[in-house]
Amino acid sequence: MSDCIFCKIANKEIPSQVVYEDDLIMAFNDIQPQAPVHVLVVPKKHIKDIASLSDTDYDLMGRIFKIINKIAKEKGIEDGFRIVNNCGEKGGQSVGHLHFHILGGRQMQWPPG
Ligand code: 5GP
Ligand code: ZN
Repeated sequence: MSDCIFCKIANKEIPSQVVYEDDLIMAFNDIQPQAPVHVLVVPKKHIKDIASLSDTDYDLMGRIFKIINKIAKEKGIEDGFRIVNNCGEKGGQSVGHLHFHILGGRQMQWPPG
């Protein structure tokens, strides 16, 4: 997707603070952090949102969760953190490229805050 900001970040057309990268996945610091640790984990290929996943995408989702755990350990927040996925406009998604937020380093609140 030529006009997608996270595709551009994955292609290094837009700079980001890269936390993790492999052939399929990229993780980078959120530009407007909501916690001391706020990392976004994205598939490099353009997938719009969770509701748009194909049957063939679920292996990739498993791999993303493995990387989420790796990042949480590296950031020293494995004792408690939050994973957020906003799906679709009604779900609060503002960037239309599937991403998981890893938030940690402070006490999380519920309802979300
Ligand atoms: P959403 O609201 O779609 O779940 O989350 C989008 C996130 O992307 C927001 O937390 C926002 O701060 C972050 N974001 C938007 N544009 C950029 C950008 O250009 N670079 C980075 N690193 N994060 C971005
Ligand atoms: Zn994209």
